[in-house]
Amino acid sequence: MTTKKTDKKELSISEKLEQLSMLQSIDSSIDEIKILRGELPLEVQDLEDEVEGLTTRLENFQNEVDEKKENISKQNEVKKEADLLIKKYEKDQMKVRNNREFDAINKELEYQKLEIELADKKIREAEHFIDDQKSNVSGTKSRIKERKATLKQKKSELEDIIKKTEKDEQKLDRKKVKIKKEVEERLLFAYERIRSNSRNGLAVVEINRGACGGCFNKVTSQQELEVRNRKKILVCEHCGRIFISSKGDKE
Ligand SMILES: [Zn+2]
Repeated sequence: MTTKKTDKKELSISEKLEQLSMLQSIDSSIDEIKILRGELPLEVQDLEDEVEGLTTRLENFQNEVDEKKENISKQNEVKKEADLLIKKYEKDQMKVRNNREFDAINKELEYQKLEIELADKKIREAEHFIDDQKSNVSGTKSRIKERKATLKQKKSELEDIIKKTEKDEQKLDRKKVKIKKEVEERLLFAYERIRSNSRNGLAVVEINRGACGGCFNKVTSQQELEVRNRKKILVCEHCGRIFISSKGDKE
């Protein structure tokens, strides 16, 4: 039924207010959708970061364990070599011709025995470290598992909300574009400015129990009457929001 006209037809104050009221209700519905998504996008991002951090930590733990395991096999090699030398020196000792030679070999023997003791000590330390790290590894693993489960749940919650609200949001956006074209530029500018300054996104409010519906400051009964008459556009003298008469006021 609507015919497209380039020039806007002159609207009555009442009609202008009606447009602003519609624009406000569209904007409020869009705001609600955003509130519904709320912290979810942020929570999902945080969880993803946390899982990534934990995975890096787990890798570090495992690298340290691998390093210690490598160290243990190195120490076992040291022990093997020392064992071979000890056997060789013990044979050599049988063939010595004097005390000096015996003592010299004995020194080598002592040295190799100390090498074995030292290697054993290093192995014990490494094993101890690996044991400790086992609980870190399993703790981190279960933390990752738990966080991943929460992430999965939050992600699907967010996807659900997006899926459910996508169409509504697109519909609202289209409505908004349409009505914005119809609203007088000067009023639209004022509306956008008030809305951007208001925390709850309300630029158009009703008067409730003699108070502004936006900032709750008292409104005089004269102002209230004028709002009800819809002969001119009134704004709250405290917050600047545009007043509309409540639905029940329609004559
Ligand atoms: Zn106010």
